[in-house]
Amino acid sequence: MCGIVGYIGKNNALPKLIKGLKRLEYRGYDSAGIAYFKNKEIILKKSVGRIANLEEKINLQDESFIGIGHTRWATHGKVVEENSHPHQVGNITLVHNGIIENYLPLKKELQEKGYSFKSETDTEVACAYLDYLLEKNKKMPFTEILKQAANTFIGSFAFVILVKGIDNQLFVLKRESPLVIGIGNKEFYVASDFQAYLEETKEYFILEDNDICQIENNALHLYREGKEIPYKTNILEDNISSPSLNNNKHYMLKEIKEQSVLISKWNKIYLEKGKELPDITKYKRIDIIACGTAYHAGLIGKYLIEKNTDFEVNVYVASEYRYQKVHLNKESLVIAISQSGETADTLSCVKLAKKNNAKTLGIINVYNSSIARICDEVIYTNAGIEVSVASTKAYTSQIYILSLLAQEFSQQKIDKNTYTTLPQKVEKLIEKDYTKIGRQLITKKDVFFLGRRIDYISMLEGSLKLKEITYIHSEAFPAGELKHGPISLIEEKTPVISLITDKTTALKTISNIKEVKARGAYVILIIKEGIVPTLDKTIYDEIITLPPSDDYTMPIISIIPLQLIAYYTALLKGVDIDKPRNLAKSVTVE
Ligand code: GLU
Repeated sequence: MCGIVGYIGKNNALPKLIKGLKRLEYRGYDSAGIAYFKNKEIILKKSVGRIANLEEKINLQDESFIGIGHTRWATHGKVVEENSHPHQVGNITLVHNGIIENYLPLKKELQEKGYSFKSETDTEVACAYLDYLLEKNKKMPFTEILKQAANTFIGSFAFVILVKGIDNQLFVLKRESPLVIGIGNKEFYVASDFQAYLEETKEYFILEDNDICQIENNALHLYREGKEIPYKTNILEDNISSPSLNNNKHYMLKEIKEQSVLISKWNKIYLEKGKELPDITKYKRIDIIACGTAYHAGLIGKYLIEKNTDFEVNVYVASEYRYQKVHLNKESLVIAISQSGETADTLSCVKLAKKNNAKTLGIINVYNSSIARICDEVIYTNAGIEVSVASTKAYTSQIYILSLLAQEFSQQKIDKNTYTTLPQKVEKLIEKDYTKIGRQLITKKDVFFLGRRIDYISMLEGSLKLKEITYIHSEAFPAGELKHGPISLIEEKTPVISLITDKTTALKTISNIKEVKARGAYVILIIKEGIVPTLDKTIYDEIITLPPSDDYTMPIISIIPLQLIAYYTALLKGVDIDKPRNLAKSVTVE
């Protein structure tokens, strides 16, 4: 989480920092700030809220050739200016992504030495600690000081640092939190994600844990394990470009709409060109690990793999798995699903899997991301850059891949026709009007989502989408579970969205809908065309019919109206859809 940028070179740093921060705003948007050298002094500007607020405080003509910037996702301390970055203590000014877990004992130690603190953050403590080390070891190269600090700090961090008195250099230290260095013409860019500088340079290299960099405008010194080593750069593929809204009001809508085109693209890659998928049948145990939306994709994967085999797949929330007893050995496969490929909890599970000799497979969207780099094998989901914090196209891309893996696993012959007709079916659902349903939901305090088996999983994702972007409380329940408690929450006009695409349980779910209808619920029924011979029209208030497809592709169809219901409800509420309250896109802290 949080976006970090740094620039050193022959051009004015200020516009570069602001542009980079804007591109990284999806990573955190509680507050923003920059710091830069001017006539050997460090100028600091911060503002609560969006980058636009910060911009108002900055004179872009103010020339500087070296600076750092930050867009925050608060972990320690409220969203106030004092807590926003960059932090400055003595001769040190820095931006930080991550959490210094031992900041409290360090703070106490530093207070005893006379330091006082203006913020509640862990970051200011790290800043003071560096200042303390520098004061104590005035003759020591700053890279050595960073090495000492790295031995003391516990937790995750990416720091970009300015040191008063060294006004021609930028310093970098990182562990766990991601950082990339972009290389321009006699200039260097530092960023949490290469998206920050896509238009400036395609040449980059990724820092590894505990790397330290000392950067001047025409030289970069990289220190790994105490030694200076040469760095090797990569060139980003040319077709990666900065995303744009293309006449859509929000990235979320644009990304929902893109799904039909993307499915055709995936069909080309996987069905026409026949890109080979890794063989997952040789393992005795498969654990899928993921967070949030990707976790729901994992549950769909489990369902589809188990559907036609006797094999049992386990799906775990990564933040739990990393601390539980694992049952892995060299005959196990751990599948890590992550859009960004930077999800801290998922990354740590991959490390755990490797330590236990399991093979690892990543299903990842972002090329060359941390999880992609450490997994034994990677399937890239080819969903393109996803800007909206609420994931849509990345989710369908994950299901697409898992549906193919599941068919390979059970040695089913893939019915190419179902996949070829999918874009058109998705397109038709995108074109429908969801505002009437949205109007029903905006005034409500709770919304319930019901489904059975695979439909229950889709509802978990539908419910997550709604709560993420509309702030309306919602929950998904297996339809049969309602009467064991949650039905007590149903009042007159409580919205209940119900999904029926699973033939074996269709009639059972219909009975459950009747139960909530009898208690006054406002029922929105999403149902696969022709799944029941006759549909009782009194059980629903609104209906959306889904075009039929097979079990493998149906969850891709089912999720479209749920994404759009969430989107149009949020639109009617007038909230910031692409950057929902308290959230951020790439979750790089535990
Ligand atoms: N822990 C730091 C803070 O709360 C950094 C958070 C971030 O990564 O944005 O300020």
